[in-house]
Amino acid sequence: MKRVLYLLLFVLTFVGCSKDSTSEDEDFKRANRQTTGASANDFLSDENFKSLTIEIIYVSGFRPSQESLDNLKDFILERTYKPGGVSFVEKEISSPAESPYTIQEIADLENVYRETYNAGDDLALSIMFIDGKSDQDEGNSVVLGTAYRNTSMVIYQNTLQQSSNQPGEPDKVMLESTVLCHELSHLFGLVNLGTVMIEDHQDEANGHHCDVEGCLMNYQVESGGVFNLVSGSVIPSLDPQCLADLRANGGR
Ligand SMILES: [Zn+2]
Ligand SMILES: [Zn+2]
Repeated sequence: MKRVLYLLLFVLTFVGCSKDSTSEDEDFKRANRQTTGASANDFLSDENFKSLTIEIIYVSGFRPSQESLDNLKDFILERTYKPGGVSFVEKEISSPAESPYTIQEIADLENVYRETYNAGDDLALSIMFIDGKSDQDEGNSVVLGTAYRNTSMVIYQNTLQQSSNQPGEPDKVMLESTVLCHELSHLFGLVNLGTVMIEDHQDEANGHHCDVEGCLMNYQVESGGVFNLVSGSVIPSLDPQCLADLRANGGR
């Protein structure tokens, strides 16, 4: 049986804005260019932001399934207070043809294409679905998604499509939904990434992940592991400790 290690990553360090201008026109983008986890409370509570707009930026031919976006919205509504609702805007782009992508290249692409930024009490999230692979892929270890900055994440959609819907592989919608919810949970501040732990459950050997096996925030999902157990029908859920952390930081 094929053994592939699916990695769900985050980048803690601030991604530089090498292509940014320094003009005042760029000032309104600054709130969306903070470190990963810095907006955890803004996502979880309705204190500063009453609604959320998600900008889906996808390369032609790599749009995620509508079912996966619906699952992501359900996950957000279950975990956060956004009385003004959660809405999507979509933007199709042509292939940058730069695969494999470094996270700096992804951030530079976001700088070029992203149009939705925090405005009033509406929080903005950018999710890019890119047509190539991460430069962090090594052999059988492939990266499916990365959370970077405070309101940005990327899904390596070509890798994800190649990792699903074949015999012995997860269902594409389930894999896509799981990766989306996992990466967003990093932006929610898990684990110990802007949301304080109530009890210590950080898998420190693997960065800001949960040490509970089977938790959505466990650092890896192996083929033959979580996905076969759930028969491709349920997204792994957050364990009680992750849920307690989110609630203590304003979440639902
Ligand atoms: Zn992760
Ligand atoms: Zn957990």
